[in-house]
Amino acid sequence: MVNIILLGPPGAGKGTQAKRLEEARGMVQLSTGDMLKEAIAKGTDLGRQVEGIMARGELVTDAIVIGLIEAKMAQGGDGFIFDGFPRTLKQADALADLMARTGARLDAVIEMQVDDAALVERVSGRYTCGNCAAVYHDKSHPTKAAGVCDACGSTNLKRRPDDNAETLKVRLMEYYKKTSPLIGYYYAKGLLHSVDGLAEVGVVADAIGTLLDKVPEIA
Ligand code: AMP
Repeated sequence: MVNIILLGPPGAGKGTQAKRLEEARGMVQLSTGDMLKEAIAKGTDLGRQVEGIMARGELVTDAIVIGLIEAKMAQGGDGFIFDGFPRTLKQADALADLMARTGARLDAVIEMQVDDAALVERVSGRYTCGNCAAVYHDKSHPTKAAGVCDACGSTNLKRRPDDNAETLKVRLMEYYKKTSPLIGYYYAKGLLHSVDGLAEVGVVADAIGTLLDKVPEIA
């Protein structure tokens, strides 16, 4: 089983590809963004603590997300897809420590390359199914019947409160200031691979699949 990181700015398609990998390969998606959103939805102390920060598009503290990832990894299993984590060098070091402690190995970091103009278009048209988490887009991938999820038939379709042009600017700035240094960090570790995140979803999935099939050779 391989452990990978999907790295890229908001809207690069990390969540979409993580879900496909879960289905195709039985890997487990670990999305800190989803964990935090769940905490907000449940109204926990953590949820109340992070709600404003997330609505503004800023990053929550390293300690919070490292704690969340540590707890999930402790539940066992391997073949993790880290989606939206790590987002800072400190988080990357913490992940390396966690892996070393549990005898796990990080096999590959897949950078999903996209340009900023495309991100604004993608993120501002994005909506998801509140029931099964399928991802849609107003222009590129609308539901077949308006307001009804293709996958599960639910009418609970939602837009993320932080998927708007203004918040996206903050999220992008956070990405370039704090997360993009991870590209050099993982390159130096010999783990970095890049795919064209602007290609059609299936083409991106194939490119990632081809990389993963080679992992024993490339690691
Ligand atoms: P995402 O769904 O990955 O775009 O995450 C949504 C929001 O959750 C981000 O804009 C951050 O506020 C917060 N978040 C998620 N993952 C992290 C992380 N690894 N470090 C800091 N903040 C995070």
